[in-house]
Amino acid sequence: MKTARRVFFLLLVLTPAAQAAPVTVQNLRVYSAPDNTRIVFDLSGPLEHRLFQLQDPQRIVIDMDNARLEGALPETGGSGPVLAALRMGAPEAGRLRFVLDLKVATRPRTFVLKPAGPYGHRLVIDLFDVQVLEQEQQSAGVAEPRAARPAEPEARREFVVAIDAGHGGDDPGAIGRRHRTREKDVTLAIARELAKLIAQEPGMRPVLIRDGDYFIKLEKRQELAKKRRADVFVSIHADSMPGRRLSARGSSVYAVSERGATNALAKGLADEENAADWIGGVTPEEMDSDVKKILGDLTLTATIADSLALGADMLTALRAIGPLHSATVAQAGFAVLKSPVPSVLVETAFISNPNEERKLRDRAHQRRIAQGILDGLKRAMPRLIARRGEPAGGIARAAPAGGDREHVVQRGETLSSIARQYNVHIEALRFFNRLGDGAPATGARLRIPSSGGDG
Ligand SMILES: [Zn+2]
Repeated sequence: MKTARRVFFLLLVLTPAAQAAPVTVQNLRVYSAPDNTRIVFDLSGPLEHRLFQLQDPQRIVIDMDNARLEGALPETGGSGPVLAALRMGAPEAGRLRFVLDLKVATRPRTFVLKPAGPYGHRLVIDLFDVQVLEQEQQSAGVAEPRAARPAEPEARREFVVAIDAGHGGDDPGAIGRRHRTREKDVTLAIARELAKLIAQEPGMRPVLIRDGDYFIKLEKRQELAKKRRADVFVSIHADSMPGRRLSARGSSVYAVSERGATNALAKGLADEENAADWIGGVTPEEMDSDVKKILGDLTLTATIADSLALGADMLTALRAIGPLHSATVAQAGFAVLKSPVPSVLVETAFISNPNEERKLRDRAHQRRIAQGILDGLKRAMPRLIARRGEPAGGIARAAPAGGDREHVVQRGETLSSIARQYNVHIEALRFFNRLGDGAPATGARLRIPSSGGDG
């Protein structure tokens, strides 16, 4: 009897107080992409909200119940294609109202995100330009442009390089320790330098996958590359080493893997890079379907060998501009590299190393890195162009099936001498024989992929 009375008393005191605690809107950010605008509210907890659209003039109203604003509304200019202004509506007691004035007819999408990375609860509002959406739907129904065009000799077509500036929007990437440099800013600066350099090269054309501070989910990056008929895909990043390993430095290059990572470092890095979707903010439904896709069958073998060869060319070129962190191309399950075209991820330097962070901020150094990546691309280009007509990327066609030859390693032979002997790329030998950095043991039996022509 005594216990029951005490419980009743506690409920009486606690329940009304818990209900009354309002959710605080702590901050908001606006990111403008070429075809949409994203508004992110940082919240102290989960929140009830309602969204409705009004005409004449076009605007969207968001009501948040039991909420209050912390501080003042940040300045949000009418930048971007969709949003003209963001303002506070007349709030009632305990309710916040935000009004989005629009430039064009807009389709909104709204979702809430649970705490992820550096963020707590978030409410995300995406505004899509209706006209752009309709155009996309129409062009999706039209036949492939490749078929519609008069036959253009594949070998003479421009070599299109998709340049993917890592991270963006709510996903800052790694953060430098000394100057708080954000990886997303550095990658964009290097990507733009690279695009400038490629535009000056005869026979080459750049495509910037991200050209501003906004989030693009990893899978969409490859979709954009495909739409622009990219021949190769280069994702640009800046590495970070946790804990006390501040002295870690130099560039490294990665390719995707079907069968697990080549080493623990690559595995950790892939996990970190793949968290971009989660931190940058994909809808919960998208997250579910992406997980299913990753579990599904991916026929990547076709391009992995080409990606490894491209990565090796990239390392050779990058060695000329600075130290390498790893002299071979490591592999892991990078979501952004799952692609039918050769794709590599370049960790340009360690943003966690104060010395390299300073260099990464330097315009002249950004240009040098871009030049290194360009030199690597130019090394790989003739081989990749020669492969264009082939159904599934040269070396790889030979992948697991018969027709492969075997080579017994003789004393004094090196991987590169064997690669030369059979005219296959050294990275293809490494890949198909699962070899590390060292020389193969005398007497070891190596599989030589059968159609390994190295251009
Ligand atoms: Zn990164």
